[in-house]
Amino acid sequence: MGLKIWLDTGLVDEKDARISVFDHGLLYGDGVFEGIRVYDGNVFELDAHIKRLFESARAIRLSMPITRNELVAAVETTVKANGMGDGYIRLVVTRGVGCLGLNPFACEKSMLVIIADKVQLYPEELYEKGMKVISATTVRNHPLALPPQVKSLNYLNNILAKIEALDNDVPEAIMYNHEGYVAEATGDNIFIVKNSVIYAPPVEAGSLEGITRAVVIRLARHEGLDIIEKNLTRYDLYVCDEFFLTGTAAEVIGVVEIDGRTIGDGTPGPITRLLREKFFEYARGKE
Ligand code: PMP
Repeated sequence: MGLKIWLDTGLVDEKDARISVFDHGLLYGDGVFEGIRVYDGNVFELDAHIKRLFESARAIRLSMPITRNELVAAVETTVKANGMGDGYIRLVVTRGVGCLGLNPFACEKSMLVIIADKVQLYPEELYEKGMKVISATTVRNHPLALPPQVKSLNYLNNILAKIEALDNDVPEAIMYNHEGYVAEATGDNIFIVKNSVIYAPPVEAGSLEGITRAVVIRLARHEGLDIIEKNLTRYDLYVCDEFFLTGTAAEVIGVVEIDGRTIGDGTPGPITRLLREKFFEYARGKE
């Protein structure tokens, strides 16, 4: 039996979950999305994800097809219909069906899709050992081109950097902004630790305002750790003591090598391990 997918106004069987080839989400990557975790049937940080989705839509002048409350109910209905314990929800809102031509206002009505499925995690071994990354040559989108805070359906910028990573046999690439400062990984936010202080690039350096990032900052402060948001350079990454990434799918994962330089002793450091554990407890222990 296939999944139940929310399509437009209600649930349909997976085999019937189809959208038009004239949908501008397909033709132009015109739309927004969210990825959300479900832990033991509880949707993690749903309000924050819905807020970010509505803000992304507002930034690109996309009218949402339903209200926030209706969307919360639709998400919960989809999770229940699929009997989901642990999993991952993909919320997609496209500009909808239009004609060949960019004009978004010629599209009839935006289209909502909600998929509740399994999440693709990195193998457990990678969390133990830590991952290797490279610096991408692909520069993160200029904020005046496509603001990185918009979680849009147009991920080509990130995909080009991801290809660089895969060509180098590593799972992730670090992206820098047009000024050369660290922005983010292709699907995760970045943190480093130097002399027991945690540093994160500010969102304005060109990253998505990660919901995992915000939770990890709160948890770190709660643990009494110093955490400073400031612009970071490639050099800062090369000489840091610890390095980790955060994201909905990845949660908290240590980085142990960048561009052939070993980070710390080559294993995920103590602050990385502590925050991974605290995040795990917080996410799974929450109602
Ligand atoms: N940056 C990018 C480009 C992302 O796509 C994501 C989400 N996968 C993140 C950062 C992390 O954000 P969040 O913690 O909200 O998943």
